[in-house]
Amino acid sequence: MTEKRLHSLSSNFHTPRTSIPEAKYPHINIDPQYDAIKTLKIDEELTHDENRYHKKIRAICQSTTFDFIANYESATSDVKEFKKMFKKLGPGGLDVNGFGCANLSNVEVFLLILETFRLDASFGTEFLIHNSLAMRTIFDLGTKEQHHKYLTKMSSYEKIGCFALTEPGIGSDAASLLTTATRVEGGWLLNGEKRWIGGGLTADIIIVWARNEETKKINGFLVEGKSSGITASKIENKIALRIVQNANLRFTNCFVTDENRLQAEDFTGSTAKSLQNSRALVVFACSGILLGAYERAISYCTQRFQFDKTLTSFQLIQSKLMAVLGNLQSVILTSLHIAKLLDRKTADMKQISLAKAYCTQTLRKSVAICREVCGGNGIIYDYGVAISFLDAEVCFYLFIKILHKVIIFRILTPCWQAAWYSEKTQFANGLWLSVTQCLKY
Ligand SMILES: Cc1cc2nc3c(=O)[nH]c(=O)nc-3n(C[C@H](O)[C@H](O)[C@H](O)COP(=O)(O)OP(=O)(O)OC[C@H]3O[C@@H](n4cnc5c(N)ncnc54)[C@H](O)[C@@H]3O)c2cc1C
Repeated sequence: MTEKRLHSLSSNFHTPRTSIPEAKYPHINIDPQYDAIKTLKIDEELTHDENRYHKKIRAICQSTTFDFIANYESATSDVKEFKKMFKKLGPGGLDVNGFGCANLSNVEVFLLILETFRLDASFGTEFLIHNSLAMRTIFDLGTKEQHHKYLTKMSSYEKIGCFALTEPGIGSDAASLLTTATRVEGGWLLNGEKRWIGGGLTADIIIVWARNEETKKINGFLVEGKSSGITASKIENKIALRIVQNANLRFTNCFVTDENRLQAEDFTGSTAKSLQNSRALVVFACSGILLGAYERAISYCTQRFQFDKTLTSFQLIQSKLMAVLGNLQSVILTSLHIAKLLDRKTADMKQISLAKAYCTQTLRKSVAICREVCGGNGIIYDYGVAISFLDAEVCFYLFIKILHKVIIFRILTPCWQAAWYSEKTQFANGLWLSVTQCLKY
């Protein structure tokens, strides 16, 4: 018996059954029987046209030749290569109508974000910064002239935009920002510092948020990336979304014309809508990262032999993968629900915040399991799950999850105010200040 077993092990030693599965990040070579979208019958929730659109986007993402691993290690992004891929995916602007923009439904936006983040979260993030944070803000808050001047060039990716709100000393409490805008003849002088600005090193258009020194309100300015008075440096040593180039930007008497000031004063009305949309996109991004991590993990486990069997033959591994698949189902269906509510124009911030808090936490737990089932290779970039594991951490970045939980508390507890003050008065007071700031957005 022992002899037979030894013989079987040694005869397998040089066969593919005992070799390490090939690492192919970002490509996913999955056996069709494990295709999660089919297994979960998500395609049945989509119309014929939506399924066709999804297949088209997946095929484009799968055909990428971008070397994400080399770029992940060196933490650089090749803007030209990214632009080529953006163009293949269609015109920019997601759901924006006019100016050559894509005019997608929210379900189509979900499918697009699902696939770009399934491919690679850094790629997806750069895609979103331009198409949503930058373009959406100009569309929602810009004048007709600004729409024509910027959106047309941005929808064709001739010009790439970024969004500069956060400062070194002002993070979550963004409404207290310190960058100033001083009126001078013909325009404004911007002075201050911004931090974490995705794409800030290379962007053609930077949307800068600054305090109008006359009104003391926050205004947005469309600043050309090559304007004088801007100095930029890259934030080094990030553990996640390494390919995305985050920048520190310093504005020293940077002149911007009056025509380049956005219309809205402070974070109200349309700005709230823009930020609501960007939160929904984080929910969609969670689906994409988790789909990629699950499919890479199950693909690895079906090809990895231990004890003369594939890893997927063991019930302990099956149980872990099943837990991830269940989580994936709930995250994808939540995303689809939000997308459909947005299409029907019945979504509000409470639902989106609930979805964001749930999906980001579920993603975080699930990618850890994906990493675990890949053993040692689960911590090597080449197999992809390690990248998803690290990138999932940044899904909290747009808004801190604790504030979302407070907003959600309003849905769950009709008498939320009473409960709030009776139970955790001291803790709540601090938070409440932040929430009121946050709700102003
Ligand atoms: C990868 C990445 C990309 C980014 N891209 C951009 C970009 O393109 N443009 C841009 O403008 N910004 C960007 N940001 C900045 C992002 O919006 C901020 O990181 C975010 O607002 C949080 O600010 P902070 O990091 O300074 O954390 P802080 O505000 O210092 O918070 C630190 C911790 O304290 C907690 N906390 C804060 N306030 C409270 C409170 N009242 N009660 C309880 N806990 C609290 C937070 O949850 C967090 O855990 C990016 C950030 C990252 C990491």
